[in-house]
Amino acid sequence: MQTQKDFVLIGGGIMSATLGVIMKKLMPEAKISIFEKLDKVAAESTDGWNNAGTGHSAFCELNYTPQQSDGTVNIEKALNIASSFEVSRQFWAYLKIQNVLKGSFIKTVPHMSFLWGEDNITFLKKRHEAMTAFALFEDMKYSEDFDKVESWVPMMMKNRDRNERMGVTRMIAGTDVDFEAIAKDMMAYLKSCEGVEVYTNHKVKKFKKLSDGSWKVKVKDVKTGKSIVEQTKFVFIGAGGASLPLLQKSGIEEGKGYGGFPVSGKFMRCKDPEIIEQHRAKVYGKAASGSPPMSMPHLDERRIAGEDSLLFGPYAGMSLRFLKTGSIFDLAGSIRLHNIWPMLSVAKNEFGLIKYLVGQVTLSKKERFKMLKIYFPEAQMKNWELYTAGQRVQIMKKDKEKGGILKLGTEIINSEDGSLVALLGASPGASTSVSIMLDVLNKCFPEQMNSDDWKNKITEMIPSYGKSLIEDQQLCRDTRKASAEVLGLEE
Ligand SMILES: Cc1cc2nc3c(=O)[nH]c(=O)nc-3n(C[C@H](O)[C@H](O)[C@H](O)COP(=O)(O)OP(=O)(O)OC[C@H]3O[C@@H](n4cnc5c(N)ncnc54)[C@H](O)[C@@H]3O)c2cc1C
Repeated sequence: MQTQKDFVLIGGGIMSATLGVIMKKLMPEAKISIFEKLDKVAAESTDGWNNAGTGHSAFCELNYTPQQSDGTVNIEKALNIASSFEVSRQFWAYLKIQNVLKGSFIKTVPHMSFLWGEDNITFLKKRHEAMTAFALFEDMKYSEDFDKVESWVPMMMKNRDRNERMGVTRMIAGTDVDFEAIAKDMMAYLKSCEGVEVYTNHKVKKFKKLSDGSWKVKVKDVKTGKSIVEQTKFVFIGAGGASLPLLQKSGIEEGKGYGGFPVSGKFMRCKDPEIIEQHRAKVYGKAASGSPPMSMPHLDERRIAGEDSLLFGPYAGMSLRFLKTGSIFDLAGSIRLHNIWPMLSVAKNEFGLIKYLVGQVTLSKKERFKMLKIYFPEAQMKNWELYTAGQRVQIMKKDKEKGGILKLGTEIINSEDGSLVALLGASPGASTSVSIMLDVLNKCFPEQMNSDDWKNKITEMIPSYGKSLIEDQQLCRDTRKASAEVLGLEE
């Protein structure tokens, strides 16, 4: 069977869902097919238990504010991430008013950074000072006082030496987000739209660029074994960890030189209501030196599908799969002549990462638990279970000087004519999905994005669109207040 569609979106996670909704709002007549290989949408990284649910706004994640060699703290990345999260909040608030997002998916959970040691305390103080100059962070509190910190996180302070020196920041406006709930509601909305088909149990196998610039996409119905072929003007590869092999299959020049290394995430989980009610925060620490940014330890209050829990982690696990539901041949199958040197160069240059991964994989149950006790001294092993969360694919890229480098953050890779685009990398991930999808549209539909029609429609969905929440302090305050009211959040 061959059909014709305007757009084909691959993957049923939050990225495709977000892009699909934005496209449908901008182009109500568009014919869109979304293909998901699993029997349901939002079941890989977007699944509530597969990620940490932190609304990444750089309030507590110390890797977004690196310390420079002159001792100053660079907050540029933090400002961008915080303003991107405000964009997501505005879009979700709009969709809530429109009754697209129906369920409960976001709640206020204060975000805290918690550090020990004089150098770390000095760093945190400087970070606080630099950040509070901006409205995005002006409500951030700093304390070294035991009693104050105890009033914020009593459970963490029980059985702790009062003379222990610590530096702590707290942002009341932090959030916990159920990205699975958001993606499912968005997909349900898309299914109800005329011209949109959401296929589950359908795996995209191949692509072919045709002489008229369009793409032929071959898809297999994994239940019946039958194939569908779709011809389309635009393909979005939002297949999470599996985006890299699909990008390679597309054969576009821009995808050459990229490699990926899978790392699985594990968390400890507590479901005891008496313990959960004693900890109302997401508390982030500092990653051990040499370890990747995704390894920052954090003790989190969570709510997934209405159920409360505490999480601690992440611990890294070795894996050969690009998805939790992937194949053990994923890594080997992604090696090409054009990415083998970049991958080997990273292995040679990033010894700290390799050491970290080996150290993590060989951790015993007792050693893992010891890490939790640093944050929660009275934790008891019987109340915590270890589980495997989602899979990340650490992206590596060809580099002229070093041969290959690790790419942290999200990479948007598009063909020169904008007819195919792939999303690689994870962090800051789902939290900034709306800004990332606007970037995708800017790269692939520059003319339309410049038109008054699209600008007006986007401004209706994201009132601050085209303005800076970093520079316009009052706009930032008003925007956060407005979305907080709709989403039922504290400011
Ligand atoms: C351990 C961990 C913790 C995280 N914590 C956070 C956090 O606290 N905050 C945050 O904002 N982000 C976090 N993230 C990142 C976030 O989860 C991801 O950025 C986001 O879920 C990615 O969404 P996606 O739609 O790109 O991918 P996914 O949700 O993985 O969806 C991709 C989909 O594509 C499908 N697919 C793959 N191949 C094919 C094919 N050939 N044909 C059809 N379908 C296919 C898959 O089955 C899958 O459903 C975390 C990630 C991990 C792994």
